[in-house]
Amino acid sequence: MNECLFCKIINHIIPADIVYEDQEVLAFRDIQPQAPIHLLIIPKQHITTLNELTDNSIAGKLLNTVQKLAAELNIANDGYRTVINCNQHGGQAVYHLHLHLLAGRQLQWPPG
Ligand code: AMP
Ligand code: ZN
Repeated sequence: MNECLFCKIINHIIPADIVYEDQEVLAFRDIQPQAPIHLLIIPKQHITTLNELTDNSIAGKLLNTVQKLAAELNIANDGYRTVINCNQHGGQAVYHLHLHLLAGRQLQWPPG
C-alpha cells in the first residue's frame, strides 16, 4: 500500500516515535496525543479497517502488545483505554487498522 500513511511509517519512509516493533506489529506515539500516553498499535500487514480483520492471530497479537506495553509503561494497574475507530461513524481518519492506547489521566465516558 504505497499511499498509506501508516505503511510509510512501517517502511520508515515517514518518521515516527516508535516504542515497540516486531515482525508483526508496530507501536508508536500518536502525533496529536489526547492523553499523557497515547500510542497507536498497528499490524504490519495493511488491513484497512476492523471489518477486514480476519486473522485471529493478528487480533490476538495486537491485544497481547497492549498488555505488554501497559506493563512496561506501568499503566496496567491505574488503567488505560483501547479504542479502534471504524469507518465514518467511528471517526476513522487513517485507513490502516490501528488500536489507540490512551493512559495517564482519568478518561471520561461516554466519548463524544
Ligand atoms: P483515527 O481517527 O482512529 O483514524 O486515528 C488516527 C490517528 O493517527 C490520530 O489520532 C492522529 O493524530 C494519528 N496520526 C496521524 N498522522 C500521524 C503520524 N504521522 N504519526 C503519528 N500519529 C499520526
Ligand atoms: Zn497501510
